Amino acid sequence: MRIACAADLHGHLGFQPPAADMLVLAGDIVPIECERDVPMSWSWATEKLAPWLRAQTIRYKHGILAIPGNHDFWLQDQRGHDRSNLIRSFNWHYLDPGARQTIGSEGYNNTFFSLPWTLARNDWAFQANDNFIAMQLQKAQTGRCNVIVSHGPPLGCLDTAWNGQSIGSRALREYIVDNKPDLVICGHVHEAAGEDMIGRTHVVNCSLLDSRYKFTNSPRVVVLDS
Ligand SMILES: [Zn+2]
Repeated sequence: MRIACAADLHGHLGFQPPAADMLVLAGDIVPIECERDVPMSWSWATEKLAPWLRAQTIRYKHGILAIPGNHDFWLQDQRGHDRSNLIRSFNWHYLDPGARQTIGSEGYNNTFFSLPWTLARNDWAFQANDNFIAMQLQKAQTGRCNVIVSHGPPLGCLDTAWNGQSIGSRALREYIVDNKPDLVICGHVHEAAGEDMIGRTHVVNCSLLDSRYKFTNSPRVVVLDS
């Protein structure tokens, strides 16, 4: 299965993601201009994001899978206006935090796990500590998830921030070392986009923007044999 990966759109929809069997969006979807205004974010999502998803999804045999990121306050707050129904009416597989989904054809599929949490810093969406992240990852282990879609990177891998600090999750790294998933798709640390390995696990930081939120990187395509 060929998987096109992109993270940190921050509202940028003026790009054509590459051809693949499916597209994964690893969080930070909403524009920074409206991220803290939940009703405005929902207006953007229905007016801009939904038509974009509709146009893109027909290009992917297995559709589009998405998780939220620390800027996606609108996805953290789905109260009112029938928002949770609305989110499910978009043309994507929206994976709730800590949920998993198997995608593909029989004998040729992958099970994806949604890990939107990043380590608590300030007042952001989907914040947690490593104990909580470790607890959530137990569900990935039970569900035999071979692809972890995590907004944040693992500690020490594609996680060096602008100030030289390594800001990834220790719990995610330990999970990778112990459980050897095939693929970890992440973003969050814009300035650390790239690909690396932890043992036999392929880690992809597919952030599209640079540290100044300028569109810099193309989405990446990863091929999984399973
Ligand atoms: Zn971001």
